Amino acid sequence: MRDLAERPVTFNYDYNMACSACPALTPLTSTDYHQQINQAHIACHGCGASIHFGRAVMALRDAADPALDDGYLTGVAWYHTSTYSDWPVGSRTMPAATLDAHREHMSSEAAENARARHENQALHVGTYEAAIESMLRRMSDQDDGGAQFFLYRVALRVLDLVVERGWRDENTEHAARLSQDDLGDADVVRYLNLFESPGSISLAIRPSAIAATQQIALPVDTLRDGVEPSLLAEVGAVRIEHERREAERLRHGPSPLDLLRRKVEARRDAIAGLIPTVRQKNLPQPLHQLLVDRYLPGVSEPVRERFTSAMRAWHGAQETLVGDADYVTRFASMAPILTRHQEVRQLIAADSVTTFR
Ligand SMILES: [Zn+2]
Repeated sequence: MRDLAERPVTFNYDYNMACSACPALTPLTSTDYHQQINQAHIACHGCGASIHFGRAVMALRDAADPALDDGYLTGVAWYHTSTYSDWPVGSRTMPAATLDAHREHMSSEAAENARARHENQALHVGTYEAAIESMLRRMSDQDDGGAQFFLYRVALRVLDLVVERGWRDENTEHAARLSQDDLGDADVVRYLNLFESPGSISLAIRPSAIAATQQIALPVDTLRDGVEPSLLAEVGAVRIEHERREAERLRHGPSPLDLLRRKVEARRDAIAGLIPTVRQKNLPQPLHQLLVDRYLPGVSEPVRERFTSAMRAWHGAQETLVGDADYVTRFASMAPILTRHQEVRQLIAADSVTTFR
């Protein structure tokens, strides 16, 4: 692969919020954002108006983001995560099972249209942080908790690359689910990412905009944090305390909250395919606090929560019961993707290159 610059990476970024009354941007720390201080309201730094902060008013994190410069786009490494080991080739064909399901429930014409739409989708690349957070989100929100993911490092084509001017705001324009036709004359459309590494610039691109890729399977086999016996002892103590409380609760009969929870679970189990083969032991919150403190130093609260929720999804997707020690081991093998990103990026940059043009 030709020499690509790496951008600085951090999972401890803050946010900028836009104001509806004036053009000023108001910074907001990740902690305040996560804790939704003041019922998610802050005063605008420009005019003092009250801003109800959240995704709907998320602004560009860096107003001078170098990715706004067309020439810069081809000089840096872009990232993507996928469950396909041959992205973007494999991901562009609709899986046979999906096509069969469509044919069963739609007219053959509608099924054919769905397939054409799938195969005409634009591809997406973003910062390292956006790619990793995309994986975490898919794990918890899209039933991919147990899936094998791959990280891709992407070089864009240098010659004749047509880039749309400026950037699109996902809040007001289509950006995340574009077809190649939606790209118009452009090969590359910049957009403000609101879901993954919110406030960063991602790109919707034509497959032909990709010059080359490198790939690595996640978690990275050679990058695993240690699991100290002292940590396992603490986890054991948390588990014992948790079981004791559970037993006490059972003795006193179910609380109204328990009854509600059971109702929700029963409804979920009624949907076929969502029933785990073996009932999973639940993961107490204090257990996660221990793991987050040990394995995710320097990671912001919103990203920690996303990571933890992805790990819960992994836990729930396992067909056999996962013991606490195995869970801690998995947590310790995934965390370096966030905390040792420099090593991850060195490893992927040393990987063999798949060239497309
Ligand atoms: Zn204002």
